[in-house]
Amino acid sequence: MSVIEAQTDSPEGFRNRLLNFDKDGHRSKIYPQKPKGKFYNYRTILSWFLLAFLFGAPFVKVYGHQFMLFNILERKFVLFGVVFMPQDLYLVALAMMTVIISIFLFTAILGRIWCGWLCPQTIFLEMLYRKIEYLIEGDGIRQRLFDQAPMSANKFIRKAIKHIIFFALAFAIGNTFLAYIIGSDQLIKIITDPPSQHVAGLAVMVFFSLVFYAVFARFREQACVIVCPYGRYQSVMIDVDTVLVSYDFKRGEPRGKFTKQDKEAQAQGLSGAANKGDCIDCHKCVDVCPTNVDIRNGIQLECVNCTACIDACDEVMEKVKKPKGLIRYTSLSTIRDGARHWLSNTVKAYMIVWTIITSVFCYLYIARPMTEVVLLRAPGMLSTNDAQGNKINFYVLDIVNKHYHDVKIDVKLVSPTNGKVQIIGDLSKVKEVSEKSARIMLTLPKENLTMADLPVRFAVYANNEFVKEVETKFLTVK
Ligand code: SF4
Ligand code: SF4
Repeated sequence: MSVIEAQTDSPEGFRNRLLNFDKDGHRSKIYPQKPKGKFYNYRTILSWFLLAFLFGAPFVKVYGHQFMLFNILERKFVLFGVVFMPQDLYLVALAMMTVIISIFLFTAILGRIWCGWLCPQTIFLEMLYRKIEYLIEGDGIRQRLFDQAPMSANKFIRKAIKHIIFFALAFAIGNTFLAYIIGSDQLIKIITDPPSQHVAGLAVMVFFSLVFYAVFARFREQACVIVCPYGRYQSVMIDVDTVLVSYDFKRGEPRGKFTKQDKEAQAQGLSGAANKGDCIDCHKCVDVCPTNVDIRNGIQLECVNCTACIDACDEVMEKVKKPKGLIRYTSLSTIRDGARHWLSNTVKAYMIVWTIITSVFCYLYIARPMTEVVLLRAPGMLSTNDAQGNKINFYVLDIVNKHYHDVKIDVKLVSPTNGKVQIIGDLSKVKEVSEKSARIMLTLPKENLTMADLPVRFAVYANNEFVKEVETKFLTVK
């Protein structure tokens, strides 16, 4: 017997292998019992809102722009109706960093609250796919028996219906994610136009649908346990003060079956056997776990803090007339010492970093110019003369209009004052949330030109409002 085999066969063997794999490394399919209880109800209600948001957000428009858009290809991002253009990428990066630090902070305080309550993977799997499976194939035990039973017409039809619905859902999820990336208008175009016009788009749609189908029909909890880096980093983000779904080992141990004697003692108003904890070793908390965790072994990588075991144990405690909360949201320090220290050093450090990054983001966001202009000399051009011998230089003006309305751009010469500015191109209407370029022709009288590179200053206006003053050079070739 190898060392690993010896370790995995031992009572502590769960520490040496993933719980959804047997000791030979083969995946064991998990058949969790359907959870029911207070927390499951709260999660169900929250999931309705989140699903409505996830499916709806790409189709909601604010001033004609998609409410949420992550168009990486065109570097256009819309967060909650606010458009961020390529020039604002530093803000998008800061926003992402703020989100990541927020997740770190919440994780340090409340553990994997994101995984159990908010993560799309959990929401889709537990609140859509699993519920459909319960509806078609029954509860966890029935599903296991159903899988073990030989193929029959009933089994074939149920499996076929289940997988058709699974794929339809994956198609809807895949298309929704695509709408976040390429935009809902483009997605609708791909769907409604003749297929030959969007072969690449359709191929991506099919690919996304197949990936989501594979994840939710087959891969399932492995996404959380093996793939997701967030789950893997848990151990460095939490400490003894982090509030997690935890088993109160002080109250529960030593565990033991709820016997007839316990029942009789209870009937007489006695607390039962003195050497027994409150855990009656019914295994219900493990049966409902979607990742096969026995929470009584303490915090484990596979636990996504879904609260199913809290509901299961509360139901058991109610039946055996003991206080609820043997499994509950609490920290190791609270169970062990009865005290909770809210602001651990880790939390303080995350709070400081979070405050700094969020403040910088807010300042830069508020201060960001809604019209950006860049005015440079036209590349590769020196000066030319007009018929009167006056000198002419050309410049390129790039404008970024981030407003939700069109703007009219004017360019005026600040110094010297006796030159003539002409815009070559139409800047009377720079469309909302768009970029435009034009050439600027500056003519200066020859008697003005006292030096080969004369400094000149332009002022740029958007809808008659001053935007920026730009200094550049006027070159003269004798
Ligand atoms: S141990 Fe409890 S909270 Fe953790 S995943 Fe399993 S059921 Fe959910
Ligand atoms: S559900 Fe509660 S009582 Fe039953 S085994 Fe789990 S912790 Fe013990």
